[in-house]
Amino acid sequence: MKIDLRSDTLTKPTAEMLKFMMQAEVGDDVYKEDPTVNELERRIAEMFGMDSALYFPTGSMANQAAIKMHTQPGEQLIADKYAHVYNYEGGGVSFNSGVSCKLIDGHRGMITAAQIQEAINPPDFYHSPLTSLVCLENTTNKGGGACYDINEIREINALCAEHDLGLHLDGARIWNAIVAKGTDPKVYGNLFDTISVCLSKGLGAPMGSVLVGNSSLMQKAMRVRKVLGGGMRQVGFMAAAGLYALDHHINRMSEDHDKAKELALQLSKLNVVTNVEPVDTNIVIFTLEDRESEQSFVSYLSANEIAISNMGQGKLRIVTHYDYAQEQHERFLAILKAFASS
Ligand SMILES: *Cc1c(COP(=O)(O)O)cnc(C)c1O
Repeated sequence: MKIDLRSDTLTKPTAEMLKFMMQAEVGDDVYKEDPTVNELERRIAEMFGMDSALYFPTGSMANQAAIKMHTQPGEQLIADKYAHVYNYEGGGVSFNSGVSCKLIDGHRGMITAAQIQEAINPPDFYHSPLTSLVCLENTTNKGGGACYDINEIREINALCAEHDLGLHLDGARIWNAIVAKGTDPKVYGNLFDTISVCLSKGLGAPMGSVLVGNSSLMQKAMRVRKVLGGGMRQVGFMAAAGLYALDHHINRMSEDHDKAKELALQLSKLNVVTNVEPVDTNIVIFTLEDRESEQSFVSYLSANEIAISNMGQGKLRIVTHYDYAQEQHERFLAILKAFASS
């Protein structure tokens, strides 16, 4: 069977998850009458110790809604140059919110309180856009699954409070950070105004993200979701997949992290591989000698029915996930060893 490590979004619902989904009790969620969606939102709000949560069809929409709730047109948000909200949401920051981004040259997609401090425009200097929001990503996607040190987030939280800035977390892969660092989700809930979490990546649900936050801001979330076209009806079947994943697919993520570390170690032994970025979670980013070796390596893998992704600028990416079984992992390691001696 093909080994597909292009992304953890490729995971498909397991038989058990599908069975659980089919048994869901549903209603019209635009009327807030879908008991399964309501339960998912209640569970996630409780996990993060925040007041309220709202189910969204995608992570991009949850992030875009949060940005809309935090800002006014003409204002500016601060994010790392690799941020998903800036690079991979179709320009939604400007399209939906009329907001510009001040990008920071961070480390593996992570930025520091000191860097943010430098990037805040003085509020009384009316020539520059008013800074109103800071967006962090944890774990970082383009940054290679890196996890923030919680103390850095504490400093960023204090800085945002001091300057009256909103603080949003793009937590598409927060579950990986929670498992890798052993952090209670409430610690994150306590430090951010809003957090988006994704159910359709490593957790394996077919769709869905949840935006969680404190009630004053979240009052706006229903309206913004409606405007973005994200009000859904009997979507409890899908929310059930999320509920199932919360119970069964979080703790097992440490297996994905172990496999990613083993792959990184094996890759670092290959002569053609010039750099393997540190592996904190389930993403391995690595670089080969040159364009030619990159192409021959990728075709060697695809001849062996292994798919990985090319991020451009000489970077290749592997993402482990629960559909990547132990048997496939052993096969991949053997194929890498064979490449070394070929
Ligand atoms: C996947 C992802 C999202 C959301 O993506 P959707 O495909 O819109 O669900 C948001 N942020 C990060 C960092 C992601 O990796």
